[in-house]
Amino acid sequence: MLYLDTDVHHGDGVQWSFYSSPDVLTLSIHQTGKYLFPGTGYVNERGTDDGFGYSVNVPLEPYTEDDSWLECFREVLDGAVRFFKPDIIVSQHGCDAHAFDPLAHTHCSMRIYREMPLHIHRLAHEHCGGRWVALGGGGYDIWRVVPRAWSLLWMAMTDHPHIERLGHEPLLPLPAEWLRAWTEESPVPLPETWLDPVDTWEPIPRRSVIEEKNRQTKELAMLYFPKRG
Ligand SMILES: [Zn+2]
Repeated sequence: MLYLDTDVHHGDGVQWSFYSSPDVLTLSIHQTGKYLFPGTGYVNERGTDDGFGYSVNVPLEPYTEDDSWLECFREVLDGAVRFFKPDIIVSQHGCDAHAFDPLAHTHCSMRIYREMPLHIHRLAHEHCGGRWVALGGGGYDIWRVVPRAWSLLWMAMTDHPHIERLGHEPLLPLPAEWLRAWTEESPVPLPETWLDPVDTWEPIPRRSVIEEKNRQTKELAMLYFPKRG
């Protein structure tokens, strides 16, 4: 089993549970524990004894954005799947890496919550005969982030036509009945579209420095993966 944790916090509990076992590969991508609870998930936490190499961590810098997050996510996950050849993928879908989330300082948009499950779905079919279990996780902007992120996950898992459409039409409107039902209740203005209008967001200063540091982390995370060819 490959346990994949994309919650912005390190997947510490599952990692320590299987730390000495080569039967479960745990892979967690998160904001570095240097600045965020639970303070673990460093790249050198690789497992012990027979489990060495079966614990993989990708601790990213605060203010990481979509492109950098997805680059690290895809490369490390693809590498892990290639060498570990899981019979099943179990993924944890905390959605607190979003810029609106009040706990972390990661600056991703809803785009990662479309692209990550699509990628996992594809890998599950290519390598695991389609066996994939998806779980919820953290997410503390319950109005603007969680409903959209977990709907996108469900749409990716069930091949809903919207999920492909959002690739070229990111600002597809959310269902009017959902907006009608919750606008009054929500303490914050609700988003009107499935993905975020990231073009209107303030650019993050030091973007290139953050991307470069994350690239180094990604390489270190894959250091002990067997080389291809
Ligand atoms: Zn979390």
